[in-house]
Amino acid sequence: MRLLKPPALLVLLSAVLCLTFPQVIAREQFTGKEWSRCRDYLQKFYNLSTSEHSSSRSGVLKLKIREMQNFFGLQVTGRLNQQTLDMMGQPRCGYPDVNEYSFFPGRPSWPSNTISYRILKYTPDLRREEVDQVISMAFQVWSDVTPLRFVRQTSGQADIMIIFAAGYHGDNAPFDGSGRTLAHAYGPGRGIGGDAHFDEDEQWTLSRYGINLFLVAAHEFGHSLGLGHSNVRSALMFPTYQYVETNGFKLSYDDIQGIQTLYGAQTNGGSRTTRPTKPPSPTKPPRNTKPNRPTKTPDKCDPNLSFDAITSLRGELWFFTNGGFQMLPGFPRNILSFGFPRSVSQIDAALYIKEEKKALFFVGEQYWSYDVTANRMDPDYPKSIEDDFPGISNDVDSAFEMDGYFYFSNGATQFKYNNKNKMVTQVFKTNSWLNCK
Ligand SMILES: [Zn+2]
Ligand SMILES: [Zn+2]
Repeated sequence: MRLLKPPALLVLLSAVLCLTFPQVIAREQFTGKEWSRCRDYLQKFYNLSTSEHSSSRSGVLKLKIREMQNFFGLQVTGRLNQQTLDMMGQPRCGYPDVNEYSFFPGRPSWPSNTISYRILKYTPDLRREEVDQVISMAFQVWSDVTPLRFVRQTSGQADIMIIFAAGYHGDNAPFDGSGRTLAHAYGPGRGIGGDAHFDEDEQWTLSRYGINLFLVAAHEFGHSLGLGHSNVRSALMFPTYQYVETNGFKLSYDDIQGIQTLYGAQTNGGSRTTRPTKPPSPTKPPRNTKPNRPTKTPDKCDPNLSFDAITSLRGELWFFTNGGFQMLPGFPRNILSFGFPRSVSQIDAALYIKEEKKALFFVGEQYWSYDVTANRMDPDYPKSIEDDFPGISNDVDSAFEMDGYFYFSNGATQFKYNNKNKMVTQVFKTNSWLNCK
């Protein structure tokens, strides 16, 4: 709770202050409403006090604007300008940027490497299994680079209690409707410590539309584990929300350094080491490009290895394993290297059948089957999608496998398909998948 202020008081005072401020500060073209937004933002995220004497107010406000501009790498003028106001309008995390450290005051961390969590209240925007899976993947981002282990609980008190809620939800930091603050979390500790709250007024999705739950949850869990915000733009712990590709998501070096300072690096024995080792390159990689992998990569020849996801991007295929976020060595691979005819330059959709160790590639009205064990295309392909997957229509935009079912989407329609019975078991609107209201 520590840094979040009682909001009822703030609303009351800012209503009064917004009328006086435009004259006191700079004579820029901003309206009282915009100044009020600015003050509100600085009170929420930069500890701008509401109890300063009026004579010193302009100085304090200037200082806070400077602080905010500096944090975000904007031109530091101490004056409100459009660029600054735009940044203040970005959807973001509800945890403040006030500290100059990467940690909570006192640097709290969990005493045990095994941390429990429980999803107490779900969002209606997504199916429960989807939320369960995304939350587990968001924790995995952190357990991949530390000795931490996350254990899900379905009853009782867990270290990290997770809820989706709108407006007032039991702490003194009520949510603010759609946009602006998306979620917040508390640093390690008893009671509310570690808990993560997600604003139910957001449109939670698994895609680039609406607000991507994976990205926000991974960020909030960084707080739950003891990290504050980072002003490194490519870091997950940067305070504003920006969609990045979630397949193959990797923490930035900055995030890894922060979390390993608290918990040490991942070791086979699970014991804590103290400091992260520097990466070979002094430049920090943007977080969704070539991974600077601190963890063990799977052996492609491991007979037990199964792929969890295949993604087609820019004429290349990316195979992911281990919950979908670890790319296999040797990937991405050009599509042509899989044995497609030259006429195929783009894959509409791909899915992996674990039991059969086959990857299916959908192109136009046809599909190919790739034998992952033999590392070659199966003979007698392509075949007709319509013949072999009756009912899903013959043009597939995307496909994935979950809990033994295949999911295909075609435009606005999504099909749940039982491959054993060769039957569509459910049809729903892609809109309802994204739960557009
Ligand atoms: Zn945050
Ligand atoms: Zn809350």
